Amino acid sequence: MWQNIREYLKSFFHLIYPDLCIACNRRTTDINDTFCLDCYTELPFTLHSDLKTNEFADHFKGKIGIRFATSLFYFVKTGVVQNIVKQLKYHGKDAYGIKLGQLFGLSFQNSELATSIDILVPVPLHKKKESKRGYNQSLKFAEGISTKLNIPVSKGNLVRIKNTLTQTKMNNEARIKNMQNAFSVENTKEFENKHVLLVDDVLTTGSTLLECAVTLKDIPGITISMATIAMGETV
Ligand SMILES: [Zn+2]
Repeated sequence: MWQNIREYLKSFFHLIYPDLCIACNRRTTDINDTFCLDCYTELPFTLHSDLKTNEFADHFKGKIGIRFATSLFYFVKTGVVQNIVKQLKYHGKDAYGIKLGQLFGLSFQNSELATSIDILVPVPLHKKKESKRGYNQSLKFAEGISTKLNIPVSKGNLVRIKNTLTQTKMNNEARIKNMQNAFSVENTKEFENKHVLLVDDVLTTGSTLLECAVTLKDIPGITISMATIAMGETV
């Protein structure tokens, strides 16, 4: 009964305070409070059903051992996803991170991710960058996932100790070098014998996630998986 009352109240509040689509600002439907139906149907979902073999997981083959990898969307230049990620990273829309995390959680609630991940580990920003931005967008994404999958988020254990240069104009080799030794773990015990899901905003060349995984891989009993909001169509 409480479930029904909650659903009823939710629809009632939606009538008075409708959520707005994060892509176009029109009203969302009450089943989907992140996007309007038009935007939702146009979104480039990756729809990975196999979390072990897909273009994301294959990208890391031979580089590092990971269990599962997936992304919610493909990152299409000039598309809706690019705009949302830009708003999330550079225009103070930290709430988008939470909403996208919730959508990710709902999309993967019946997958092996939901049942086997012990802890969500957002890719950290250097403290200088985080205080400038006011938040870490990957942490927001992880917090959103956590609300739907009931998996705890690790905060401040994986840390960025090197204030890396912006990688936008670097080639792959330069990116890997730039990232080397950028991360450190404060307390390895937190990740011992755990299946961790490394969470980041966008997968481009994978140098950031790779370096995080390298930093974690020797912790006893650790299993590493990865997830992002978006990934390039060709990684
Ligand atoms: Zn829309």
